[in-house]
Amino acid sequence: MADNDSRNFIEAFVEEDIAPGGRFEGMQVHTRFPPEPNGYLHIGHCKALCIDFGTAARFGGICNLRMDDTNPAKEDTEYVDAIKDDIHWLGFDWDDRFFYGSDYFEKTYELAVGLIKKGLAYVCELTPEQFKEYRGDTATPARSPWRDRPVEESLDLFERMKNGEFPEGKYTLRAKIDLTSGNFNMRDPVLYRIRYIEHHRQGTKWCIFPMYDFAHPIQDALEGITHSLCSLEYEDHRPLYDWVINHVDVPSKPRQIEFARLGITNTVLSKRKLRRLVEEGYVSGWDDPRMPTLCGLRRRGYTPASIRAFTDKIGVAKVPSTVDYSLLEACLRDDLNAHAPRRMAVLRPVKLIIDNYPAEKSETVEVENNPSDPAAGTRPVRFSRELWVEAEDFMEVPAPKYKRLTPGGPECRLKGAYLVTCTGCDKDEHGNVTAIHCTYDPASCGGDPADGRKVRGATLHWVDAATAVDMEARLYSNLFLDPDPDAFGDAYVEHINPESLQTVTGCKAEAALAEAKPQDDFQFLRLGYFTVDKDSAPGRLVFNRSVALKDGFKK
Ligand code: ATP
Ligand code: MG
Repeated sequence: MADNDSRNFIEAFVEEDIAPGGRFEGMQVHTRFPPEPNGYLHIGHCKALCIDFGTAARFGGICNLRMDDTNPAKEDTEYVDAIKDDIHWLGFDWDDRFFYGSDYFEKTYELAVGLIKKGLAYVCELTPEQFKEYRGDTATPARSPWRDRPVEESLDLFERMKNGEFPEGKYTLRAKIDLTSGNFNMRDPVLYRIRYIEHHRQGTKWCIFPMYDFAHPIQDALEGITHSLCSLEYEDHRPLYDWVINHVDVPSKPRQIEFARLGITNTVLSKRKLRRLVEEGYVSGWDDPRMPTLCGLRRRGYTPASIRAFTDKIGVAKVPSTVDYSLLEACLRDDLNAHAPRRMAVLRPVKLIIDNYPAEKSETVEVENNPSDPAAGTRPVRFSRELWVEAEDFMEVPAPKYKRLTPGGPECRLKGAYLVTCTGCDKDEHGNVTAIHCTYDPASCGGDPADGRKVRGATLHWVDAATAVDMEARLYSNLFLDPDPDAFGDAYVEHINPESLQTVTGCKAEAALAEAKPQDDFQFLRLGYFTVDKDSAPGRLVFNRSVALKDGFKK
């Protein structure tokens, strides 16, 4: 159990509840994660997942996974499967406690009938227009001409609603609570409405569907949930949650606790908005590496550890906050810095010819796999007379303080290999550089020169030209230019960053990278952290840049 100093407000409540005299004294903490299967999980859901599964785990409790498929529209088994995969990938498990909200339709119906019998619910026949008109305002109570309909009549009408005798919108079932309440959710809220729509699991069995506010507390109670943790928009619904729990005949009385939703800069986190990006082709799919979805982040190269570290860092507050995207990136960098093997690749290659290195010779040099992890050792890398280096590591006429390759310029270290001095370049008829020439110091392999001279140039990454493999690199930046795309309402799509994906072809990589598999992570020296994309195939290597080495690399 968390100690007093590090526990968040939810844990403090839970601790109170299970302590002697608390409302759940002696009970096992039991939470649930209730995604609506109408889209893929995004980074906001990770916060909820870490709270739901994490709180249970901290108290030795358990957490259910429940598909909240009460609302029949836009649900799909594709989403259900993807949600399960994503949660497992993050490292959480629900064991055999996987449920569908729709599994409780029968029971929920019975409980609604029970409410009618107790005089606590009635069938109402206001039109949608009248509903608005009769709703009242803070100074005026609502009006509900049908709330005194006799119990028998409501029971009969409700059954016939269920049997499909009436058109959509003709009747609703409403709770009889308080028409004068300052909380509009309590002004005789609708519990059931008629909808002729096929449900993804129930087919056409039902044409009446419970509202979320009625269904959710019942589902929680039937599963024996102790703590129903949800985001802040449900705070005003808590009195209704409690009312339902206290008035229907269920075996337990879960407690709802709300926390702030997570927002992140330069992206949107509503499934509806994300779905539109997919459906209208702004991105290549739910798993486009620019998407804040879990599958997008995974494809981009995010690790479960980095995402969990991120949710730990942002903490659990009750005050809504928007977190800077760079915090997520920093968490990934921290994780990959410790774990990702270092490799060399050249994004925009140009030949480097070492004129005094014998043409027929080649050798292997040992290059460190991870300087922050000595146990990672070294790997052999082939070195020969012709290498690929980064075009921007050469300037024929150097800028002030340029420390890379320039004719007569400073000696530069080729990572893990020799010191070289640039002597000049070849150009084509348009003046473009086609090769850089240099000489090397045969006595300088891997270490500083014995004569004690100071190396002023930079250490450069390189790839052996004869054995290099071709690769494509996909470089990403923010999907939206504006930090708060939600501020533009449905015009958010007009603020997509047209340069959020930059595809670089003709890159060159160390030969061994030909064997890399999707989700393998690497640090490409000086370029950032990269992972193999699923579009990669034998002979066609595709890498995503997961994150640049430094914050603000490309703003
Ligand atoms: P969306 O607007 O993205 O569809 P939602 O709340 O409708 O969000 P659900 O699938 O119903 O999505 O959410 C499942 C759980 O995840 C809920 O408990 C919800 O409170 C939580 N959740 C969703 N988005 C966030 C977020 N941005 N931050 C924290 N929790 C979230
Ligand atoms: Mg929802």
